[in-house]
Amino acid sequence: MGFRFANVAGRAALVDDAGNWHDAERASGGGVPADPMQAVGHGPALHEAAARLDPTAADGSVATATVLAPVPTASKVFGIGLNYRAHVEESGVDVPEQPVVFTKFPSCVVGPTDDVVLNCTAGDYEGELVVVIGAGGRDIAEQDAWRHVFGLTIGQDISDRALQFAAKPAHFDLGKSRDTFGPTGPVVVSPDLFDDPGDLQLTCDVNGVQRQSTRTSDLIFGIPFLVAYLSAIMRLSPGDLIFTGTPSGVGAARGEFLEPGDVITTTVDGIGTMTNRCVA
Ligand code: ZN
Repeated sequence: MGFRFANVAGRAALVDDAGNWHDAERASGGGVPADPMQAVGHGPALHEAAARLDPTAADGSVATATVLAPVPTASKVFGIGLNYRAHVEESGVDVPEQPVVFTKFPSCVVGPTDDVVLNCTAGDYEGELVVVIGAGGRDIAEQDAWRHVFGLTIGQDISDRALQFAAKPAHFDLGKSRDTFGPTGPVVVSPDLFDDPGDLQLTCDVNGVQRQSTRTSDLIFGIPFLVAYLSAIMRLSPGDLIFTGTPSGVGAARGEFLEPGDVITTTVDGIGTMTNRCVA
């Protein structure tokens, strides 16, 4: 039995099929900690609580709740660059033979309705599927990787293209880590709730115009490979996030950048939609 996990006003919550939220600590009889970061380490207890959720005992509607970043203070936030072929082509570089990995500093992570503060002139969107690690560990085998995935959520890997390519050689970490450059949410969906968690439809619209569309099965380096690869280098911890990469259609490829007032809408089928407004 899978679950849909959310952070409602700073407390771990389960979301039911009717779109209502249930405080996870209460619904689990104390088996799941109230703090969302701690709750992410309690996947089995969340599965149990979700299986016996009483739809008549909900705490409120998600539509009117204060939904924050589901994993607000990850210890590590990885970004994967150039992980869809069409995006590699529009970027004018070679298809990578090894994953292109960069850091989004965890302080850039915000919630699914938060504003993106554009304190730059070359801000760009990147709709992405984001992996949330549940059971951490080292040297996780590719065939065991899904068992270490708490769930999947939606992310925007907002990028300051000028800063990203300011230095020679280019380094991505700073240009992708300005405050508010990591919207995530609205919920984390456990892998078992998908027919195939490795094949989801992802779209990104700006001001209602579709700019990106892909299936996540087109990833060059898929989720099991990335979990194995990263865990061979360092210990993965509950709540670590992996932004798995963006498909083609980014603004930089057309020379168009985000402006204050722009509205970015990112959707992954089976997870939901995230809407973020750009502000000056
Ligand atoms: Zn990205």
